[in-house]
Amino acid sequence: MPETNRDSEVHPVQSDALAQLQLALREQQVILDSAGVGIVFIKRRFLIRCNQRFAQIFGHADPAAIVGHTSLSLYPDAASSHALATTAYPVLAQGLTFKSEIRMKRRDGQLFWAHLTGKLVNPAATEEGSIWIIDDINEQKAAQAQLQSVLTEQSLILDNAMVGIVFLRDRKVTRCNQSFENLLGYEAGELHGCSSRQWHLTEQDWKESIDRWQVPFAVGQAFEDELVLRKKDGSAIHCEVRAKAIDASDPELGAIWICMDITARKKAENELRQARVDLEKLVEQRTQELSRTVLALEKKAIEQKEAEAHIQRLAHFDALTGLPNRLLLNDRCRHALGAAQRRHQTVALMFIDLDHFKNVNDSLGHRVGDEVLLELAVRLKAAVREQDTVSRLGGDEFILLLPETDAAGAAQVAKKLLQAALIPFQIGQHELTVTPSIGIALYPKDGVDLDTLSKCADAAMYRAKGDGRNNYRFFTPEIQAASDRTLLLDNALRRALERGQLELHYQPQISMATGQTVGAEALLRWHHPELGAVSPVEFIPIAESSGLILPIGEWVIRTAVTQLAAWIQQGMAPITMAVNLSSVQFRHAELPQLVTRILEDAALPAHLLELELTEGVAMTQPLEAIAVMTDLRQRGVRMSIDDFGTGYSSLSYLKRFQVYKLKIDQSFVRDIEQDPDDKAIVGAIISMASSLGLKTIAEGVETEGQLAFLRARGCTEAQGYYFSRPVPAQAFANYIRETALK
Ligand code: C2E
Ligand code: MG
Ligand code: MG
Repeated sequence: MPETNRDSEVHPVQSDALAQLQLALREQQVILDSAGVGIVFIKRRFLIRCNQRFAQIFGHADPAAIVGHTSLSLYPDAASSHALATTAYPVLAQGLTFKSEIRMKRRDGQLFWAHLTGKLVNPAATEEGSIWIIDDINEQKAAQAQLQSVLTEQSLILDNAMVGIVFLRDRKVTRCNQSFENLLGYEAGELHGCSSRQWHLTEQDWKESIDRWQVPFAVGQAFEDELVLRKKDGSAIHCEVRAKAIDASDPELGAIWICMDITARKKAENELRQARVDLEKLVEQRTQELSRTVLALEKKAIEQKEAEAHIQRLAHFDALTGLPNRLLLNDRCRHALGAAQRRHQTVALMFIDLDHFKNVNDSLGHRVGDEVLLELAVRLKAAVREQDTVSRLGGDEFILLLPETDAAGAAQVAKKLLQAALIPFQIGQHELTVTPSIGIALYPKDGVDLDTLSKCADAAMYRAKGDGRNNYRFFTPEIQAASDRTLLLDNALRRALERGQLELHYQPQISMATGQTVGAEALLRWHHPELGAVSPVEFIPIAESSGLILPIGEWVIRTAVTQLAAWIQQGMAPITMAVNLSSVQFRHAELPQLVTRILEDAALPAHLLELELTEGVAMTQPLEAIAVMTDLRQRGVRMSIDDFGTGYSSLSYLKRFQVYKLKIDQSFVRDIEQDPDDKAIVGAIISMASSLGLKTIAEGVETEGQLAFLRARGCTEAQGYYFSRPVPAQAFANYIRETALK
């Protein structure tokens, strides 16, 4: 090295030291130049030496440009230079290193932050100067300030955020805000350093959560979830969690977690869900209720319709036979009569009543009676045309409406109906024969409305019955008069008893053997002030159909019994008192008791009373008749069959009836002298009666010849005008007295 050589030429020792010095200086220069910091020697406030970096820091191209300058130029102003000097020199003076950060000034006047480190070269001799290391920390300062403001902002955010924020590194809390602590119920700072396991419900929960967030974290994505976390007190809270790794490439840096308590929201959601479920349930329930109501309503509507239809049916049709009733008949009749009037046609109205139908009901029961009516309805319908109406009014009464039918046509239909009824009715084991009686009225001759026509047909029907039943009759003016009279008599009869218009006449009954009066028949007489004497043949049936026969009949028995008792009292030899009994009376349940009471009241021996029953009454209901007759017989009362021979009698029943006497009807007696048939009949009756041990009495004996024949045939008694007409009580008593004297 030339300098070394040169030095060695001067003095070997000297030159060695010099060389070493120069080496040291060069080395120093290399250090100075290569140092990243500015280095300067200052002596007596002048810059003696500096490195490149120093020159650079202060805006100079190389050290030469700044060396020799006063140090004052490095500071913003004299005051700051002075301030540094006053703080630094006491430190330096002690031989210590002075360090500070101050503001300095570049060549262009720009101020910058610098870090100073100063030391005296020789603390013992300050004049030897000082060395300063200067570091430009302007950028660092700026970065620091920026960092500071970021941190401040961050703290602000953290401290004021409503959500919980926690920084986790290696799953441990490095930092968290108060909201996070509050969220989990911890004291301030309590969570610092804690593991995130702390707020997971279970170990497994925690691990699963880790598994879930690790994937998005690794690729720089946010992890979002709803987790159930555990508070410090052990209770659970629902949280919405958002987390992200601070740096996806560096897991070491950890992650930031943001937690929001959504317990209330969850609760609200659950409540909402529950409310919805409840609502749906309610709606479902209501729907079901509604459909049930609708069903019930529909059912009701159907029932209502059925009920209406039923009512309609009931209103217009007879329940038993299904035939139109009077209401529907009315309707049909109005139409038929209207049409007939327009077309000048005739209409026939037929009233049908079954003869003795009551007996069928009474003896065989209503069920059998109903079956007969049902069958009859079928037969009636079959006998007429399509346009005809067969209606039932109730009971055994039917009305037929036959449009476009005249008298001849009606007669033809009536015959057909009688024919149809002839075939016996087979009801169960019973074979029954019922005969109808038919009355016919014609439009317009007999009436122009249903009411009038049906009254006429009804009256004609009664006439048919009166004429022997099982036939038909047209309505006539004569029938009209009769029915008018029936009505008149019915009304008048209602007051006959209380007004004392009734009286009994007595007709003697004579013994064939002795010629003596052995009995009397009590016959009812009605004398009306205006109508005069009304025959029992006329008013008894009226009284029977109105029921008046019961009080009248009782009056008759009582009067007759009392009369006989009085006669005997007065010394008359005891005779029997025959009293006629209506079928209505006979069927009355109280009859036997009533008879006994009357006999007891009059103190008359029961065997002196004889009750006359017509054949029909006994025969239509033989079993019931036997019971009643047996009862009466046991009470001592005698019984006879009136008008015998006019109806049917069964011999076996006659025996069982315990009848005492048969009264041969006067129709046989009347022509007995001439008519061989009557002779035969009467003869047969008498011999039959005697063979059964019964007495016989002939009614209506008017002639000696009749009497002779009867006596010859063995008839036991006789009654008739030949002996006496029925006479008032006094006259009868006189008759007895007079005949007894003979
Ligand atoms: P009956 O019981 O057969 O009575 C006999 C009827 O023949 C009586 O008519 C009587 O006057 C009449 N008679 C009697 N002898 C002769 C005669 O020689 N020649 C003729 N041609 N007739 C004679 P009456 O009194 O008009 O009674 C008629 C019917 O009225 C009775 O027939 C009877 O069935 C009924 N009757 C009369 N009184 C009563 C009564 O108090 N109660 C009931 N239920 N019926 C009565
Ligand atoms: Mg009689
Ligand atoms: Mg008679």
